[in-house]
Amino acid sequence: MDVKELKERVLKANLLLPKYGLVTFTWGNVSEYDRESGLVAIKPSGVEYDSMTADDIVVLTLDGEKVEGRLSPSSDTPTHLEIYRNFDGVCGVVHTHSRYATSFAQACIGIPPLGTTHGDYYYGEIPCTREMTDAEVKGEYELETGRVIVECCKEYRNIPAVLVANHGPFVWGKDCMEAVHNSVVLEELSAMAWITKTLRSDTPNMPQRLLDKHFFRKHGANAYYGQK
Ligand SMILES: [Zn+2]
Repeated sequence: MDVKELKERVLKANLLLPKYGLVTFTWGNVSEYDRESGLVAIKPSGVEYDSMTADDIVVLTLDGEKVEGRLSPSSDTPTHLEIYRNFDGVCGVVHTHSRYATSFAQACIGIPPLGTTHGDYYYGEIPCTREMTDAEVKGEYELETGRVIVECCKEYRNIPAVLVANHGPFVWGKDCMEAVHNSVVLEELSAMAWITKTLRSDTPNMPQRLLDKHFFRKHGANAYYGQK
């Protein structure tokens, strides 16, 4: 993929965040990693979505060295890069402070798998990280955030999202569009989990057999959902 195309894709993905009601003001950011060229494109820091153009998108190496763009990259860039460096097959990352997912993050609890909407996308509870330590917060905070995510998610191959405790969701996918799609689903799941638990606080997780059925009919070697 050439750099221009990468920037256009990342611009388009970023503009979907306000469209789907996932961000307020300039909060939130999307990036994409092109494994072929080794380059990452990400939203610039603090630019309004209304006026953002492809030229504002910042291009960096996986080590964070700027290759293209006159603006500073999103302050969350080191978190995105740490995810790409550690998760094979992940080429798109989204971070938002979307209301419902962030509320679970603030409560420091994961999002339990309660029904098939969840099972279609996430194979089990979407985890919440541990709290960050004093040294991590005072140190290279954004990089440390990435490290806490990696530490938390190593075991969760089929769950493309995490809640950072007291902060909000980071969501990923095979490209930036899939990561945005997963973010919209995550927000919907969070709202549904909240309502479900409000209606009945001891609602159990969905049966494992139903989770297996819904996840694996859409994902993996034996998937059959959708058009061939
Ligand atoms: Zn944030």
